[in-house]
Amino acid sequence: MDWTTIRTELHKWYFNHKRDLPWRKTTDAYTIWLSEIILQQTRVEQGLPYFNRFVKRFPKVSDLAAAEQDEVLRLWEGLGYYSRARNLHQASKSVVTEHEGEFPKSYASIKNLKGIGDYTAAAISSFAYNLPHAVVDGNVYRVLSRICGEATPINTNEGKKRFQSLADAFLDKEKPGDHNQAIMEFGALQCVPKNPNCLDCPLKEACVAHARAMVSELPQKLRKTYNKQRYLNYWFFQFEDGTWVEQRQEGIWKALHQFPLYESERPLEGEELPSILEERYQLNPNDYKMQLWRLPLHKLSHQSLYISMWEIHLSKQAAQKLEGLYKQLKLTQLKELALPRPLRKFLDENQLTLPLD
Ligand code: SF4
Repeated sequence: MDWTTIRTELHKWYFNHKRDLPWRKTTDAYTIWLSEIILQQTRVEQGLPYFNRFVKRFPKVSDLAAAEQDEVLRLWEGLGYYSRARNLHQASKSVVTEHEGEFPKSYASIKNLKGIGDYTAAAISSFAYNLPHAVVDGNVYRVLSRICGEATPINTNEGKKRFQSLADAFLDKEKPGDHNQAIMEFGALQCVPKNPNCLDCPLKEACVAHARAMVSELPQKLRKTYNKQRYLNYWFFQFEDGTWVEQRQEGIWKALHQFPLYESERPLEGEELPSILEERYQLNPNDYKMQLWRLPLHKLSHQSLYISMWEIHLSKQAAQKLEGLYKQLKLTQLKELALPRPLRKFLDENQLTLPLD
């Protein structure tokens, strides 16, 4: 099979198998952009309710630009990779201030927006404006590496260039939007990472990986073993119906709220707490009662987070020592804040707090 025949077979397969997804029924660049950012590193089933929520709350780019960052993060809560939400919000403001509220129409100006890289710019410009830019995402890497028997590791500069040029050569310049959708959908449903059904594949005649029995070996990736272990201790201070929070200034959870954080080199034990609390807050052990919750291990792509929630009930005198250090609010207000997923889960599962006697 040559490229033209492979393309024709792929497009035929797509029109018979494509999922009925809301962002495929529009050519509105703003709506497509929302879907693309939400779906990065996210499964369709998980992203769909977030997409619906965003479109409903922010039907136009100007609605998103006018929102408070905390509301945007709150709507994003649970989806992870919060920099996506922060960038989305910032980029919506640029569309309003620099493009008079009209989503930009060229690949270069789309790519200039915060949080938009090669893939997203190609996706938006081809889906919304039918511009001839080939997308390369995880699905495309897999499909192309298998069809072509291409073993250059996809997570190297060389691999990125190689696969972009393969995708460019394969692109249907007449219908780039449909073509890009087709190859990604083919990777998502047919040429799946594990045990694809090659015997029932319209491209099996052309597929080098299938012919050479190397489907499970492609695509290739260079191994990166880096995985940092972090120990996060959150002080869940409480006095009467109130607690204290701070807003993160950096890292993956930047701009989200959290309980005051103390990071340690290893898991802290209960007997170590009094001296830490005394040093940091001048709290006397008679001033509080404490309960420890170890949360389930939270794994991110390069980090394992060991989270301890230290629920600390303060006396009135101790509570005064925290004044001005953090933002003070009522426990019930925690519902309104954007919090990291493990903290939200902890609060939901424990219905905020259990009384200590
Ligand atoms: S034959 Fe198998 S590996 Fe090749 S494209 Fe089809 S599903 Fe993918």
